[in-house]
Amino acid sequence: MQQNEYRQLVDRLNHYSRLYYTMDNPEIPDDEYDRQMRQLKEAEAEHPEWITSDSPTQRVGDAIYTTFDKVTHSVQMGSLQDVFSEEELWAFHNRCLQIDEHPSYTVEPKIDGLSVSLEYRDGLFVRGSTRGNGLVGEDVTMNLATIQDIPKRLSRPLPYLEVRGEVYMPLTVFKELVTRQIENEEEPFKNPRNAAAGGLRQKDPRVTAARRLSIFVFNIQQIEGETISTHSEGLELLRSLGFKVIPEFPVYTDFADVIEDIHGIDQRRHQNDFDIDGAVVKINNLALRETMGSTVKFPRWAVAFKYPPEEKETVLRNIEIQVGRTGALTPTAIFDSVTLAGTSVSRATLHNQDFISEKDIRIGDTILVRKAGEIIPEVLKVVRHGDGEPFQIPSHCPVCGSETVRDNDEAVIRCINPECPATIKRSIVHFASRNAMDIEGLGPAMVDLLVDNGLIHSVADLYELSPEQLTGFERVGEISAGNLTGAIAASKERGLARLLFGLGIRNVGEKAAQLIAAHFGSMEKLLNATKEDIWQKKENIIPGIGEVIADSLVEYFGREETRKLAVHFERIGVKMTEDVVEKGTVLSGLTFVLTGTLPSLTRKQAADLIEQNGGKVTSSVSKKTSYLLAGEDAGSKLTKAQQLGITILTEQEFLEMIPSDGQPS
Ligand code: NAD
Repeated sequence: MQQNEYRQLVDRLNHYSRLYYTMDNPEIPDDEYDRQMRQLKEAEAEHPEWITSDSPTQRVGDAIYTTFDKVTHSVQMGSLQDVFSEEELWAFHNRCLQIDEHPSYTVEPKIDGLSVSLEYRDGLFVRGSTRGNGLVGEDVTMNLATIQDIPKRLSRPLPYLEVRGEVYMPLTVFKELVTRQIENEEEPFKNPRNAAAGGLRQKDPRVTAARRLSIFVFNIQQIEGETISTHSEGLELLRSLGFKVIPEFPVYTDFADVIEDIHGIDQRRHQNDFDIDGAVVKINNLALRETMGSTVKFPRWAVAFKYPPEEKETVLRNIEIQVGRTGALTPTAIFDSVTLAGTSVSRATLHNQDFISEKDIRIGDTILVRKAGEIIPEVLKVVRHGDGEPFQIPSHCPVCGSETVRDNDEAVIRCINPECPATIKRSIVHFASRNAMDIEGLGPAMVDLLVDNGLIHSVADLYELSPEQLTGFERVGEISAGNLTGAIAASKERGLARLLFGLGIRNVGEKAAQLIAAHFGSMEKLLNATKEDIWQKKENIIPGIGEVIADSLVEYFGREETRKLAVHFERIGVKMTEDVVEKGTVLSGLTFVLTGTLPSLTRKQAADLIEQNGGKVTSSVSKKTSYLLAGEDAGSKLTKAQQLGITILTEQEFLEMIPSDGQPS
């Protein structure tokens, strides 16, 4: 490699690493990053004189650009040295043998998540932070407090304890959230690691809570009040204190057993509800760890063995085009089935035309596939072209034949024919789905039957169906016909937020629908709303609702059919209002921080009350904090508030500040 190529590689890796660590949005797969990083290390080994301080080999993680308070780690949170072969593992063992003749090791799964530090004073959780660059991280205490697996009080009140763990998103949760995102036509999380990292670095702890994250604790960073001499003893102690520790950490003295266990972890990995990207081998004896020490980047007493990603070659047989409820044409790859992460796979989404064109995917090609986060099948690249032509998504809808369009600023190609049966069917299924109008029994098969037999043409017709119309059909008995029409009638009461979500307005997901419904309160007001009533450049009219959504709403409510539909819903008694919680103003301009356990309110209830009365809740105490609302077991925030002279409120004092009817029921 020439020096200019080396510089380009440094710049490229810095770019990837910023997207990965700072934006939680990687551009390339991890193994590709690892491959380029290995090239960099080789070049640096050959030419140490080329190394500059901006090389990614010279630091942990990436710079921190957030508004969270910074935490300086008193014990450095290093990374791990990667190894990719058995030879490199034996070389590590040989290095250890030079210091100690009989080293013993633990072998642990390497959880693919986000590294955090948790601090406890007198047995109480007082602060949690991200690894950041290993020396300075971000204070994410409030967000970590939403993770149920993190004990808020230890079973014994040690004077001080700092532990390190890996926050991750369980695969079952990942699968559920991604399925919902795809259903709502939102951009799905790339993998569980990003979903977890992004979730933890949210300004609003409620968003973190919704990600249902979990943690495995794997190290004692600092401890007072106990003496331990081995790592495994430390992990047992953590378990007895109430932590969820790394699921396995057997101790071996024979290095051949270490190697065998590393392969065993790989073979068992598909049974876990968490994603791993390797196994970590660590010296068990803590005194020996001290002797071996660390480099600027990682400890010398441990290595991480990275498993090669499970990728398979297969042949692409077809590209199927599905029409979504907003008319979006989504291409799906159909290939010869291969086993990935323990299950047979033969389909993967190809996202859109840009994805297909960039990778030049053609029918008949040999492609490389894998599962992202062990779950979502994806096409990585074309290995070899067959004799197919470059693929173009058809310019006509495969269902209704009408011409498709591509929006200027979007990668998506759509069928815009409102009469297209595919669009109609999908939109009715969505309307009836659980988080929308929740009509039990109205799934895709029933919708096919109703639309194909001309009984309904749109969601409006649903409410006109009678049990008699349904009973004539095969598989629909009298009881189920009655149940279905009953469920349809019951859905009239769901209210504006669910109705808005159910209508499938472009860019309006569940959360946006709730915000809009809470703001306007009725369909009538929405029908009369101008863009300025929804969004303005300089004013935050509905927090969370931006210009894209405002444009979609104005376009949707400006349509003649929408107005007709609203009149129709009104006539048949579909509830089109939302009970609006009027925002009070008594706390406007005031900023609150919450700490400790309150006698009657949960944190969420207290935060809701503050916001409903016009106040703001932030996660850390600063000079700008107006009040600290403190309950029992308040931690470091209380001390900090006292130091800054901030007024501390009890729950009782807080409740006296707000109107009594503002209390949650
Ligand atoms: P790392 O994540 O590979 O390894 C160190 C981390 O492992 C520690 O921070 C620790 O939290 C975690 N860990 C999990 N289980 C553990 C256990 N049982 N014991 C000890 N530690 C455990 O190292 P890194 O330097 O943070 O990041 C490098 C990784 O990030 C590589 O996998 C790389 O592919 C990826 N990366 C990817 C991109 C990209 O663009 N795709 C960019 C930068 C980095």
